[in-house]
Amino acid sequence: MQQVSMLDLRGEYVLFAEELRPVVDDVLSGAAYINGPQVTQLEEALARFCGVGHGVAVSSGTDALLCALMALDIGAGDEVIVPSFTFFATAGVVHRLGARPVFADIDARTFNLDPKSVENAVTPRTRAIIAVHLFGQCADMDAINDVARRHGLRVIEDACQAIGSTYHDRSACSLGDAACLSFYPTKNLGGFGEGGMILTDNAELAGLARRLRNHGEVQRYHHDRVGGNFRLDTLKAAILLVKLQRLEEFNELRRSNAARYDELLKGHEVVTPYVAAGSKHVYHQYSILSDRRDALANYLKERGIGSGVYYPVPLHRQACFADLGYRTGDLPVTEAICERILSLPCHPLLSAGDVAYVAEAVRAFCDSAAAERMEAVGRAG
Ligand SMILES: *Cc1c(COP(=O)(O)O)cnc(C)c1O
Repeated sequence: MQQVSMLDLRGEYVLFAEELRPVVDDVLSGAAYINGPQVTQLEEALARFCGVGHGVAVSSGTDALLCALMALDIGAGDEVIVPSFTFFATAGVVHRLGARPVFADIDARTFNLDPKSVENAVTPRTRAIIAVHLFGQCADMDAINDVARRHGLRVIEDACQAIGSTYHDRSACSLGDAACLSFYPTKNLGGFGEGGMILTDNAELAGLARRLRNHGEVQRYHHDRVGGNFRLDTLKAAILLVKLQRLEEFNELRRSNAARYDELLKGHEVVTPYVAAGSKHVYHQYSILSDRRDALANYLKERGIGSGVYYPVPLHRQACFADLGYRTGDLPVTEAICERILSLPCHPLLSAGDVAYVAEAVRAFCDSAAAERMEAVGRAG
């Protein structure tokens, strides 16, 4: 049976293996394992790629978010508005700093923050908004920045899934006060281990994040703030510099897989991803909606096809946030999407045959579901 999985990390390694060997050797023999020149090179390359002035490489996407919030001085008594439909880290970092994550609902088509719900969530204690560019498509940043401007809030882009995407011809990571990237192996720019980066045009913020990344040190063994060890290893930076060379090519491959799915699934009983006007989607995930999501996932599994539910439980319904007092029904769009969402394989190494095989299986599932319904109607009649 044909097998199509959600990821092919080994296949990616094989593509880069030849090029990586001397690069890895170079770092190992150079012995600058921390703060080596490749860390600065990666910061400069990604700042250029995103069209901002500064990059601060850190140990993960989570630490990028944490460090950015620390640099903005978010802490006890503050509220930060976040989507409930996102990876846990977006809200986890807010809680870790003693601040309160306030969950806003999403737009049913893009799955990104609904600016009206954000506006409704603003209180006198609100300090910032974290806008997640979910699945590889930018949130509606003009509307979100407008809310922020009117209420004097800071905006952080959680661009962990969206490197390379654009919003009205402006790059993700250039759309707020600061932005965060993840180089977790499964992300569009995935490294061989953990990694992340803060990007910003604000020199002061970048400088502060740079010090916080290193325990708040201003000069050796002198600390004016408490930071952490959020450094990115030289070896990981060197590997990412190699992988960055093919990021745009890989994003284009994801986009062509998505275009093929759009075409093959049209007219069937699933909702394919909506791309907002002026938005360039980089398909970290290709996520469809189905009223029979779990049955569809099982059907695909029986045919050797992987799929994923991102995310089955909204953050406002997580046990660890129970004391925030949210109830089922508080964020109806988020809750409905969590029940229906399913991501299909869309990684850059899929063949045209793989995409066709997956699409054919989804179509067959929809057709059999429709036939069953007809039969039921026939029996009832
Ligand atoms: C992956 C991810 C993160 C966290 O990044 P890590 O590198 O895994 O710490 C945060 N937010 C979103 C939306 C992500 O997808």
